[in-house]
Amino acid sequence: MSPTTTGDGPVSSAAEAPATSAALRVTALSKSYGRTTVLRDITLDIQRGETLCLIGPSGSGKSTLLKCLNLLERPDAGEIRLGETCLTAPGADVDAARARIGMVFQHFNLFPHMSVERNVALALTSVKGMTREQARATARRHLDEVGLAAFARQRPSRLSGGQQQRVAIARALAMEPEVMLFDEATSALDPELVKDVLAVMRDLAQGGMTMAVVTHEMGFAQEAADRVAFMCDGRISEIDTPDRIFEGAQHPRLRQFLNQVL
Ligand code: ADP
Ligand code: MG
Repeated sequence: MSPTTTGDGPVSSAAEAPATSAALRVTALSKSYGRTTVLRDITLDIQRGETLCLIGPSGSGKSTLLKCLNLLERPDAGEIRLGETCLTAPGADVDAARARIGMVFQHFNLFPHMSVERNVALALTSVKGMTREQARATARRHLDEVGLAAFARQRPSRLSGGQQQRVAIARALAMEPEVMLFDEATSALDPELVKDVLAVMRDLAQGGMTMAVVTHEMGFAQEAADRVAFMCDGRISEIDTPDRIFEGAQHPRLRQFLNQVL
């Protein structure tokens, strides 16, 4: 993907980052809800084309971190850079930034009264300004990418949960994001439906998409991640290659976590 040259508003020239291959750069990010501190001084780079898996116990702040990355939640302190654009700078164009980051949640929230194709095409007309015909063709292409071109005219309710989640992935991909965030995309699925969704995610990772993936699927993290980050009490307490995380775990909380989930 070509480097972006957007963000030439009043704040950006002073805040221009040095040339870097990081797609996403998080510096000293903190977030509290009332008196509960959820993210503590998180610093993290995700390189272009990297797949980073985030693992860790429930409540450790994984979802909050992903939501901060696309500004669904406002961090209290710290900086987030997407390529050259500082998302946390005063006056940053939040909507424009968000359009560059795709997000897939546990619950896929497709519109039940629209066809699969229309679900994927919707934001292409309303946000990207495509004609209906362009949006339709783009939607078809991305449905094909997740193996669901044949279901384009169906209502979502005719599809399995795993297929619906693949539609949600196609919907995010159709916006041509620079980064994809996945928050437990397979956690709500029956076990037999998980495999196909993970296969789509693995293909994306191998195709060079930049991805941050919160997952309980340790097999996926082991095979598909370039690096794995272990979150604990609002911090990234370990970040390393999957081999070193899964085989050489030093941190006692990581060892304890892996003993529970593996
Ligand atoms: P994880 O995804 O790792 O399970 P979360 O990021 O969802 O963790 O939550 C981290 C902590 O933040 C938890 O203690 C949770 O209760 C709290 N939390 C998350 N969202 C909110 C919110 N909107 N308001 C108050 N507390 C929240
Ligand atoms: Mg979560």
